[in-house]
Amino acid sequence: MILDAARGALASGPLCDPCLGRLVADRSFGLTNEGRGSALRTAVALADDESFEAGPEDDCWVCEGQCSRYDTWADRAVDALGDVDFATYQVGTRAPPLIEENDSLLRVEAGLPEDAGEPFKSEYNREVGKRLGMRTGTDVDFERPDVLCLLEIERETVDVQVNPAFVYGRYRKLERDVSQTEWPCSACGGTGKELAPKSEGGGERPCTECGGSGYRYDHSVETSIAPAAREAMDGSEALFHGAGREDVDAKMLGTGRPFVVEVKHPRVRRVDLADLEAAIDDRTDRVEVEGLRLATHAMVERVKELDASKTYRLGVRFADPVRRADLEAACEALVGETISQRTPRRVDHRRADLVRTREAYAVCGTLGEDEREGSDEPEAGKRATIEVHGAGGLYVKELAHGDDGRTEPSLADLLGTAVEVETLDVLAVTGEAEPFERAEYFLDHGTEN
Ligand SMILES: [Zn+2]
Ligand SMILES: [Zn+2]
Repeated sequence: MILDAARGALASGPLCDPCLGRLVADRSFGLTNEGRGSALRTAVALADDESFEAGPEDDCWVCEGQCSRYDTWADRAVDALGDVDFATYQVGTRAPPLIEENDSLLRVEAGLPEDAGEPFKSEYNREVGKRLGMRTGTDVDFERPDVLCLLEIERETVDVQVNPAFVYGRYRKLERDVSQTEWPCSACGGTGKELAPKSEGGGERPCTECGGSGYRYDHSVETSIAPAAREAMDGSEALFHGAGREDVDAKMLGTGRPFVVEVKHPRVRRVDLADLEAAIDDRTDRVEVEGLRLATHAMVERVKELDASKTYRLGVRFADPVRRADLEAACEALVGETISQRTPRRVDHRRADLVRTREAYAVCGTLGEDEREGSDEPEAGKRATIEVHGAGGLYVKELAHGDDGRTEPSLADLLGTAVEVETLDVLAVTGEAEPFERAEYFLDHGTEN
């Protein structure tokens, strides 16, 4: 039966071995299609006792000679990749419509179903891909390759798509009034310019709101980290993804907050991470990074979803002096409690007003050592430091001041005095996002050829 199909195919016109073998590509593991085609041709010649004639290479009516050009295309792909750094690749083929049509006509001639064997495209992807891997000492990756080479058969060109590279790390923000991401000025829409009033002669002038920078805050974590990564990887653009964010006026201390920087179109992937860390350090005193690692795309989602528990430190001021024992008792009372929080008033009012519950795992309060104003008792004061370890999403300022009863219970409620939050810092974002590391970058691939 398989010989009947081969006879039908061979009778259709000059046919190369790969095109013949592709008809039965699902048979006999361990053979190339060229090997299958050659074997079929031999078997037909033997069975029919006819003289053997090797298949043509260039004037095959199905592929028009393309199946003899895998090496040419692999060379073209290597050229097109130039000096782009990659560890994994994938090859795609845009086949001319005529060849795809011939491929299905051949199946009709052979009396086979239209989807018999393997399509021209997938053989091309595999054969050129195999050669590209050999020439460059890299591995094929069908999921998220570093580079994708698209073979434009008709145009005789290779289009290269360079996929982003990712760097994972944790950052500390050592100063207040630093936003996490760049925050365009709302007054000028980020242009940094505004129209001067007629009385001042009209025309454009620097935006009075942002001083012409176009940004609401002069400094951001993003601009401290992302450009250094973009430069190190010689990319076109770098995007910053943080595992949640702290308030602009809060420091991020302790072990830092996880982030991923995504660098688009990198020409370099195997960067020296110690050098990159130093480059970021050189750029700013406001932000520090540590634990940099090369990561995969999956890390972006993982970091974004990380609803980690956090530890905060609040500097608070009480309306009336609070006794040490009362402060300790109030903190104790919050621990393990289900805190019910209506969306805070300070939060963007476009957000739905709803009640959420969160837990405080640990709360501890210390009276300010040298704050004794308005109090006769040495064991009481108007200022304190409160440390809160709470679930992700806990509104910690509101936990302290109560937000006019929108958060219950609250420190203010329990103490019976108004609480003002003067400072807020994040000490720790717990829950390490286990990075999907790009270990293969560091393996010695060696190069064959
Ligand atoms: Zn062919
Ligand atoms: Zn502005």
